[in-house]
Amino acid sequence: MVGSEGTIRMLWLQGASCGGCTMSILESGASGWFDELRQSGIDLVWHPSVSEQTGDEVVELLEAIRDGRERLDLLVLEGSVARGPGLTGRFNMLAGTNRSIYHWLLDLAPLADYVVAVGSCAAYGGIPAAGINPTDAVGLQFEGSDIGGALGAGFRSKRGLPVINVAGCAPHPGWMMESLLALTSGDLSADGLDAVGRPTFIANHLAHHGCSRNEFYEFKASAETMSERGCLMEHLGCRATQAVGDCNQRSWNGGGSCTKGGYACIACTSPGFESAQNYLQTAKLAGIPVGLPTDMPKAWFVALAALSKSATPRRVRVNATADHVVVPPGRAGDKRRP
Ligand code: SF4
Ligand code: SF4
Repeated sequence: MVGSEGTIRMLWLQGASCGGCTMSILESGASGWFDELRQSGIDLVWHPSVSEQTGDEVVELLEAIRDGRERLDLLVLEGSVARGPGLTGRFNMLAGTNRSIYHWLLDLAPLADYVVAVGSCAAYGGIPAAGINPTDAVGLQFEGSDIGGALGAGFRSKRGLPVINVAGCAPHPGWMMESLLALTSGDLSADGLDAVGRPTFIANHLAHHGCSRNEFYEFKASAETMSERGCLMEHLGCRATQAVGDCNQRSWNGGGSCTKGGYACIACTSPGFESAQNYLQTAKLAGIPVGLPTDMPKAWFVALAALSKSATPRRVRVNATADHVVVPPGRAGDKRRP
């Protein structure tokens, strides 16, 4: 359980969590996550789902870290911090300790070199914070997009960094591992985070970039129902032009992404995504989607959309509302209509 000298000691805790972030990171690395950790010199001192240690052994470890007898390099939280009722944290206790996860985090976070929130629950509150939020679920250092959360706006880990928010529901395994490795190699500083604590090497991309439906998007040739090939933005609620992440530039589970699989992007890397009312349908005002691309003035988008629609090739228009290619690309000499 205790790492040998020279290794990076990582403790992974789960708050109000579905366990999906762990499921995601288990996909990491060509030869598996555990091998990748070994190769990276990271000693996973405890993880509630994958470690053999349980009961007294774990309590002993946590107390040793809290009392300064064991070193803590990386503290990772998956799931939101349930602070209720009345800031007791008793909605989410750490079994065998008669102490809430919330209060364990208040003890342990200042002792870690780096604190990492994996997933949008740990970062911003996420799914457990939706609606009336009866458990008072928050992120480690944010409540939605408001700074604060469980640890407070002023929190800094031992190395002087705020909480690193590897957002996503679930995040890509590569985002999590690359963030951990960037931290431990000294390549991630506060300057490398965006306004809501996400590493910019992830947040400087939009999920829309690289989508296999980009040709349909350019011509505003839209799917009208699920399973059709067209762009999902106009009718089916795709928010990838506003959502950060390189989701369509690296594969998930060996291949694919949400939009490649036929599902509209729900902007799961964004604070507050869980409160959207328009999953799989596009919110519109006077027929124009409310959520337009973040990198283009609205008037330009409306003008370009009208122009694109008037110039849509028949192949793109017909295929957009089909579940397979009905009109193949034309070739020189073909007698097919363009
Ligand atoms: S971020 Fe999503 S996948 Fe991760 S624990 Fe929360 S609900 Fe589950
Ligand atoms: S489906 Fe979404 S991600 Fe794909 S091209 Fe359309 S807007 Fe972009």
